[in-house]
Amino acid sequence: MAKSTITLASGKEMPLVGFGLWKVPKETAADTVYNAIKAGYRLFDGAYDYQNEKEAGEGIQRAITNGLVTRSEIFITTKLWNNYHRREHAIEMAKRQSDAWGLGYIDLFLMHFPCALKYIDPATRQYPAWWIDDSGTVAPDNVPIRETWEAMESLVDDGIACSIGVSNFQAQSLYDIKTYARHPLSALQIEHHPYLAQPELVQMAQENGIAVTAYSSFGPQSFVELPPAFSKRARGIPLLFDAEPVRAVAGKYGVSPARVLLRWATQRNIAVIPKSNNQTRLAENLDVLGFDLTTEEIEAITALDRGLRFNDPGFYLPDYPLRIFA
Ligand code: NAP
Repeated sequence: MAKSTITLASGKEMPLVGFGLWKVPKETAADTVYNAIKAGYRLFDGAYDYQNEKEAGEGIQRAITNGLVTRSEIFITTKLWNNYHRREHAIEMAKRQSDAWGLGYIDLFLMHFPCALKYIDPATRQYPAWWIDDSGTVAPDNVPIRETWEAMESLVDDGIACSIGVSNFQAQSLYDIKTYARHPLSALQIEHHPYLAQPELVQMAQENGIAVTAYSSFGPQSFVELPPAFSKRARGIPLLFDAEPVRAVAGKYGVSPARVLLRWATQRNIAVIPKSNNQTRLAENLDVLGFDLTTEEIEAITALDRGLRFNDPGFYLPDYPLRIFA
């Protein structure tokens, strides 16, 4: 069996396969997480933006109380939302988020996007996601990435986060952060699937000791269910589950196309965090380390790359485009 963890630059071990919490409803999150732990998941990928940290934490706490796992066997990733990049807000939000999980500390804290937006008091708004049709949620703020990064470093000093990293960043900003980082840039979480392989970004990160996690491993599948502005790019795009090289490999190894897509990443030491609200698919997605693709099969799947990015605020926020991937 292949190695099931990645050693982060912080020295901590991060599971190679985890469970993604975006679009897991608040109402079912505690049970979903509890059942995911029963199925064998140990990493949970959350965010303030997903609005289910408290409930996910309750599921984990129940599993700990019932003796299924210990705290140290669980790995929590969560993320700082764009409206909280100022030093004092980043620190306050991390504490608030850690309290919501109720697990004593956050294993990995990520800056969700490389863009600072104006502060929104979390007490006055339920949900400051940028897809709420309100200019206030996407008004840029002048906060340098360095200020936010250094606030995150102070979270490590204070034991609130064990490791820190970023998400949706490109190589130039990673090189820049590395010039002043006092605590290592341990992780990069990016959209990564055969339609958006980003080979040079993955290579740059891995060469620099930054562990890569792929999100939206199933490509368009996650986006077709979103509101029109967010699903537009995914509509009409053939599902990766139906792509010929994926189906061929699935047939050869007797596994589902979903497992092929996840193995395509994990075999290259890229962590995955598939999300499923279905117990059968959730269990299936965990079983992705026990078979190997040939180099030719990996390359045939990578050849599906069309630079097609679904999570692009330069595209789905037409009134306030944030062209962070330009
Ligand atoms: P995903 O895991 O690629 O896909 C989820 C979709 O695939 C859902 O529609 C799910 O439906 C379906 N699915 C799951 N397992 C399947 C299987 N075995 N066979 C067929 N369909 C299956 O997409 P994602 O949620 O976008 O990405 C995963 C995680 O990455 C998120 O939950 C989140 O934690 C993280 N993420 C991070 C960012 C970021 O900006 N950092 C952005 C997006 C996502 P069912 O639920 O019905 O199974």
